[in-house]
Amino acid sequence: MSETYDVLIIGAGPGGYVTAIRAAQLGFKTAVVDREHLGGICLNWGCIPTKALLRSAEIYHYMQNAGDYGLSAKDVGFDTAAIVKRSRGVSGRLNGGVGMLLKKNKVDVIWGEAAIDAPGKVTVKETKRAEPPKGAKGAGSYSARHIIVATGARPRALPGIEPDKKQIWTYYDAMVPESMPKSLLVMGSGAIGIEFASFYRTMGAEVTVIELLPQILPVEDREIAGLARKRFEKQGIKILTGAKVTKVEKSANAVTATVEDDKGKTQQLTAEKLISAVGVVGNVGNLGLEKLGVKIERGIVVTDGLGRTNVDGIYAIGDVAGPPMLAHKAEHEGVICIETIKGLPTHPMDKGKIPGCTYCQPQIASVGLTEAKAREQGFEVKVGRFPFAGNGKAIALGEPDGLIKTVFDAKTGQLLGAHMVGAEVTELIQGYVVAMNLETTEEELMHTVFPHPTLSEMMHESVLDAYGKVIHS
Ligand SMILES: Cc1cc2nc3c(=O)[nH]c(=O)nc-3n(C[C@H](O)[C@H](O)[C@H](O)COP(=O)(O)OP(=O)(O)OC[C@H]3O[C@@H](n4cnc5c(N)ncnc54)[C@H](O)[C@@H]3O)c2cc1C
Repeated sequence: MSETYDVLIIGAGPGGYVTAIRAAQLGFKTAVVDREHLGGICLNWGCIPTKALLRSAEIYHYMQNAGDYGLSAKDVGFDTAAIVKRSRGVSGRLNGGVGMLLKKNKVDVIWGEAAIDAPGKVTVKETKRAEPPKGAKGAGSYSARHIIVATGARPRALPGIEPDKKQIWTYYDAMVPESMPKSLLVMGSGAIGIEFASFYRTMGAEVTVIELLPQILPVEDREIAGLARKRFEKQGIKILTGAKVTKVEKSANAVTATVEDDKGKTQQLTAEKLISAVGVVGNVGNLGLEKLGVKIERGIVVTDGLGRTNVDGIYAIGDVAGPPMLAHKAEHEGVICIETIKGLPTHPMDKGKIPGCTYCQPQIASVGLTEAKAREQGFEVKVGRFPFAGNGKAIALGEPDGLIKTVFDAKTGQLLGAHMVGAEVTELIQGYVVAMNLETTEEELMHTVFPHPTLSEMMHESVLDAYGKVIHS
């Protein structure tokens, strides 16, 4: 098969498929190639199926604690296969939805493993990884004036602790357990590690999280991560920080990890499974990028902030173009890239205003500078805090634990960062993201009316607290 396009995108993850739709809207003849799934990691093995699993865990938790709400639920139990089936079903439904959107926008889907032979030339080889979606084109040579690499990332493996699908899991295996493990070690406490730790603990596993750095959720504000840690420990999750796994030995049904703390003291921990959640690496291999002279640094394609690489006609977006490795960053970066190609006025994304969310219990959400980072950067700061315990809606929900923290530039009143831990904060954070994008000051936030009773009132109170005007605390 052979065909010529204006734009050909390699990878149909959130970065790739969103870019393809926007390209078609802008009048480009567009194709997107994928070797495995529409919707990428996000829809199939990342954001969405984890949230489906976590939802099952959340409901299980509430059912077990039904008495707190004046309800009774007897013989509360679960069926692992049914939980996994629901999660896979949610992914399948959205994956089908991406296919429909691409079709509606007249984007061609090409199925197979793509590599760039030369600027403007892409070869697609047949793949056995998955059945092609209906109507997809197959292997062949394709041409396109603009080629966008959106190939995403895969789990990072540490030497000697390579995942084996049996006792050492990656997120792929942790997403589809055949049965719930009774005990689990989680190596790495970023969003992925913590979400799985939270899921499996709620389902009854003995969970130990091992983190190399001094705090869990290392990118989050220290105070927020500290509060989250206390909640996790209260739930029975064991947490070791400043600790590294130096060796893993496997037996028929267990793994034993040797863990060394920052003082050199070692201990051995045994569990049924170990989840390796030590980050991801960009899918830059076998694409022909090195041969074409595309600049790659530490497994990441280097771009100019508008998606352009150092080679004319070749662009990169999403996880493969570097952190933060988040679906919304991939999508936004793709739109900036294609609008730049079109010649529309664009500007590089402000990575300091990309929100980050972790959907564990309690949830964590943040945007902008942590208090420590703001101080490091020389800002004199004003910090506001408001606890969930002072909010009527949080109490009515039975969720009185949590905190909303805001960080302002004391000189200008600019909102530098917002950090939250507690129920539904992943839905709240966007209020502050909008505020930061509009370059809001404390005055405007204080004059904004928040509906009552809502959790969002705490966002107002946190700002009021930073300026000594808090009401309910
Ligand atoms: C467990 C987990 C939970 C996550 N939760 C969240 C979350 O809650 N929120 C969030 O924002 N992010 C989350 N992420 C991260 C998110 O999934 C990624 O940031 C996002 O998927 C990146 O999008 P992308 O388009 O860059 O790449 P991907 O989604 O990785 O898509 C890349 C696509 O390229 C295809 N491909 C690769 N190489 C080739 C080739 N040579 N030829 C053809 N096709 C190719 C792949 O098959 C894939 O479909 C999570 C990730 C994981 C693993």
